[in-house]
Amino acid sequence: MSAPIVIAGAGIGGLSAALALARAGKRVIILERAAKIEEVGAGLQIAPNAGRILAGLGLESALAAVALEPQAINIRRGRDGSVLARLDLSDSGSRWGAPFRVFHRADLQQALLQAALAHEAIEIRTSARVGDFTERSGRLSLRAHGEGGVEEIDASGLVGADGQRSAVRAHLFPTERDAPYYSGLTAWRALVPAELAPAALRARESNLWMLPGAHVVHYPLRDGSIINVVVIVAEEPRAADGAAILALEGPELARLLAPKGPGADLLSLVQAGASWRHWPLFARPPLSKWSRGAVTLLGDAAHPMLPFLAQGAAQAIEDAAALGTAFLRLGVGVEAAFADYERSRIARASRIVRASRRQGDYFHISGPASVARDFAIRALGGRGMLARNAWLYR
Ligand SMILES: Cc1cc2nc3c(=O)[nH]c(=O)nc-3n(C[C@H](O)[C@H](O)[C@H](O)COP(=O)(O)OP(=O)(O)OC[C@H]3O[C@@H](n4cnc5c(N)ncnc54)[C@H](O)[C@@H]3O)c2cc1C
Repeated sequence: MSAPIVIAGAGIGGLSAALALARAGKRVIILERAAKIEEVGAGLQIAPNAGRILAGLGLESALAAVALEPQAINIRRGRDGSVLARLDLSDSGSRWGAPFRVFHRADLQQALLQAALAHEAIEIRTSARVGDFTERSGRLSLRAHGEGGVEEIDASGLVGADGQRSAVRAHLFPTERDAPYYSGLTAWRALVPAELAPAALRARESNLWMLPGAHVVHYPLRDGSIINVVVIVAEEPRAADGAAILALEGPELARLLAPKGPGADLLSLVQAGASWRHWPLFARPPLSKWSRGAVTLLGDAAHPMLPFLAQGAAQAIEDAAALGTAFLRLGVGVEAAFADYERSRIARASRIVRASRRQGDYFHISGPASVARDFAIRALGGRGMLARNAWLYR
């Protein structure tokens, strides 16, 4: 029997990749650094391009049970909340082949984890950090650091799905000068109990408020009982590291946002949040290659992106599908399959990295240019705005 493919990281990317590879007949070991597999953070929008893939991996009923399907996205002028465009999502299923869904991250990850645990071709080891690896004479050998010391594992391939600060990436391309850098933007994230939110903001809809140098996204989760709120502001870095180490109370964050001139409902929503988590947003320039020999990268390890198109996890899921397809198409050769996977994915993922950055700039326009932007959005309307996203969702 050939050696298994090892996946570093049991995030949404690593778990999806394991399911796709197992479907393609591969034996998989996932090595996860953390002692417990759990998602930090709050909500996640899963657009139809990823939803279709998850359904194809057999997760439809598990996901439908925990998802909420927002009926629309409202793009709002931040200073008074007026809706510039309402993007109707109610026909996403027939239009894009899957509904537009939002999840509590933990619910999505649990659904993926349970599916992986149930698959006999997938083994998951926690407290196992992938360190370095060597590839000699077609033999790949990697070291996993765990509680019991260092274990040497033979693999037929290694997929680095180990997130934005990927150790596999650092080891694969040691000469790349592409360390993560602070983007100048920070996300503050909180879950607000629905009963504390202004009544006008409790609908089963997603909302985007645009302010000068800031924007806010919120949508309901778990049958509407909580509202996931993300406030993105341009600010000086507060800490050198990417970890979420700070928290602000609602009134403190409201004071920080107030100079941007948010509408009253938005300010009330922010005030209602307790313990806003600090999430500085880091970026890396897109790589020109993701693979070398029998080692490749996937998800945030390959193409970290700013979250303004809500496509980071979706792109990790697209990567997973492409990886599985490469093996199904090409048979057993790991190097050929990884090269095929990279070829099929790198242009689209890199384009979305760049487009996500531009989207943030667009949301944050200030002064007279923001009036022109708002006018253009109104003129385009919900249908026109949705049509602009067709290349993402198709
Ligand atoms: C504010 C915000 C909002 C977002 N909203 C959306 C959204 O609405 N929709 C969307 O699609 N995307 C969104 N994203 C992006 C999305 O969260 C990420 O793109 C996605 O979670 C990446 O998944 P991943 O599996 O590639 O990496 P990660 O989730 O980072 O998982 C990596 C895993 O690898 C493990 N690991 C790390 N190092 C090692 C090692 N050496 N050995 C073994 N294991 C290791 C980690 O513990 C972790 O479990 C958002 C991001 C942010 C910051």
